[in-house]
Amino acid sequence: MSARVLDGKALAAQVKQEVAARVTAVKAKGVAPCLAVVLVGDDPASAVYVKSKTKDARECGIEAFDHRLPADVSQATLLALVAKLGADPAVHGILVQLPLPRHLDSDQVIEAIPPHKDVDGLHPDNLGRVAQGRPRFVACTPQGCMRLLALAGVQLAGANAVVLGRSVLVGKPVALLLTSANATVTLCHSKTRNLAEVVASADVVVAAIGKAELVRGSWIKPGAVVIDVGSNRMPDGKLIGDVEFAAAAERASAITPVPGGVGPMTRACLLENTVLAAERS
Ligand code: NAP
Repeated sequence: MSARVLDGKALAAQVKQEVAARVTAVKAKGVAPCLAVVLVGDDPASAVYVKSKTKDARECGIEAFDHRLPADVSQATLLALVAKLGADPAVHGILVQLPLPRHLDSDQVIEAIPPHKDVDGLHPDNLGRVAQGRPRFVACTPQGCMRLLALAGVQLAGANAVVLGRSVLVGKPVALLLTSANATVTLCHSKTRNLAEVVASADVVVAAIGKAELVRGSWIKPGAVVIDVGSNRMPDGKLIGDVEFAAAAERASAITPVPGGVGPMTRACLLENTVLAAERS
């Protein structure tokens, strides 16, 4: 293997230390950073995510509360809780764990979060500001990708960047952030023709598709930097990325592992956004 493996766990630990110091500083000014996490239903994976988010927050000195609602909760009750948290001056960040049960309208719920408390960065106002190049909160996974690219030391200005996946959660904001960083960006999706050729032209590849090892190692341009957002649980329980890691690492100059790459940075960026919300309050 020739690529440098970008250690998201180590970088996240560093970010958490920085956040803890900022929490101490803002507390000294009389503000106790507080994150409210809303969990609807009893999906085991969502429950694990919520538990880890509140645990991370508390480790940095951020107060974190989870608000659990039953799976059959009405849209009105959920909106009322979000409105209550939105109006509470002691709450700086609100996160509604997605996906919500199918009978609920998640777009409406996200839009009900006051944008200055939207630490997940999913409110249209916040995504719009990212598009304008004047972000308030950047969504956690895209921000994690950018931090990992910074760790790789890659020169983004003028680089050819290929983003695979155009979700509002990951692909689109990553493409916007790369554009703001002066990369020349190609945004690919399921209708893209000749994906292998497009990827082969990239100095920077960000894969956020959700298909295990769809991006073959042989597609990677020698020396490219590869950020693998994919998180695909295999039948044997193993977590696999969207990129064929071993073969890609033979060609790339730097690559993120799965697990231990983007995942820990996503968690760390939520903490950063939460302390930022408290600092601004
Ligand atoms: P998503 O909403 O399902 O979007 C997937 C995107 O991939 C869509 O834009 C889709 O295109 C595109 N796509 C699907 N098949 C393709 C193909 N054969 N060729 C090219 N593009 C294709 O997924 P997401 O929420 O963005 O998540 C993507 C992956 O990242 C998942 O594995 C998810 O678990 C992972 N993830 C990880 C983290 C983390 O913290 N590590 C955070 C978020 C997500 P169309 O638009 O044409 O359908």
